[in-house]
Amino acid sequence: MLKLTRRHFIVSGFTFLAAHRLRSSFAQVERPNRPLAIASANRITLPDGTVYYNGIRATERAFQLMRAGSDPLDAVIAGVNIVEDDPHDMSVGYGGLPNEEGEVELDASVMHGPTGRCGAVAALRYIKNPSQVARLVMEETDHVLLVGEGALRFALSFGFKKEELLTERARQVWLQWRRQRSERDHWMQNKLPGALRSALPDWDWRQFTGTINCLAITEAGDIAGVTTTSGLAFKIPGRVGDSPIIGCGLYVDNEVGAAGSTGWGEDNIRVVGAHAVVENMRRGMSPLEACLEALRRVVKLYGGRPAHQLNFYALNKNGEYAGAAIFKGAQFAVTDARGSRVEDSAYLFERPPQ
Ligand code: ASP
Repeated sequence: MLKLTRRHFIVSGFTFLAAHRLRSSFAQVERPNRPLAIASANRITLPDGTVYYNGIRATERAFQLMRAGSDPLDAVIAGVNIVEDDPHDMSVGYGGLPNEEGEVELDASVMHGPTGRCGAVAALRYIKNPSQVARLVMEETDHVLLVGEGALRFALSFGFKKEELLTERARQVWLQWRRQRSERDHWMQNKLPGALRSALPDWDWRQFTGTINCLAITEAGDIAGVTTTSGLAFKIPGRVGDSPIIGCGLYVDNEVGAAGSTGWGEDNIRVVGAHAVVENMRRGMSPLEACLEALRRVVKLYGGRPAHQLNFYALNKNGEYAGAAIFKGAQFAVTDARGSRVEDSAYLFERPPQ
């Protein structure tokens, strides 16, 4: 049986304590933990107070499909489609928070381990399932990334329906954000003015960022992944985050494992995070060690504690997995033979700088 210890590791500063502990627990792996699906887990609070984690729905669906013999990419895309279609999730697909001009622009990428192929779309408007369009880029073209108007025309040519993606709730949040802007705003910090927090007290600010990354491995050991998002809320029109950039928001190597990311995309792009995590695993690190090492690179680039949250998720060929973040409080979703659950991510720092 697979013996996994619960991941409540505190990795303060640059110690390797947690990684060492994990390695010894994985020395007890006798049989690969497959199939397995993991995902980022955003806590969604509905207006009536109901709370759920978006990632659990995705991992459950992906796991069920793999159990029924599905390809891992079909499985993860079907999983995240639930989240893209959910109007209450304000960080992904339909109902996502818009850019600063009130338009919803979506980014997504997919990668298929068995073929090593990948596809992505960025700044795509009016199409609620960008992950499906990303898969078409992979399957129907020799390209990897289509953006903006070209991505939209490509989607429409395959029969995707053009829909308004801005829900009334997302529009209200955007209007509130716009009312709070001032002549003192600047590009570096105008995205989350403190006054807006008090103007929207019931707003769950974790939904300012969000995204779903879902990674899966089948019983036979084939791996795939997807990342889909509406990106940073109130971004500059045309801004592309890490999610659709292969190697940053997502990377899969069928011989090694897969990694993905959510959180502040610009910080991730600087370290080409998902690729770095997979390469760390290739050199023998556990998924947890691999994620933490990539996060330490971000910290190093900052020269200290970064201003924003960044999360990595990873699984390897044995079905070992991990989630790790810059700051405490992040979680991720897992479905395997033991069932579905949300686990705490390891972290480097207790809290962001004040
Ligand atoms: N990583 C996404 C981006 O930068 C946002 C997020 O994950 O919240 O676009």
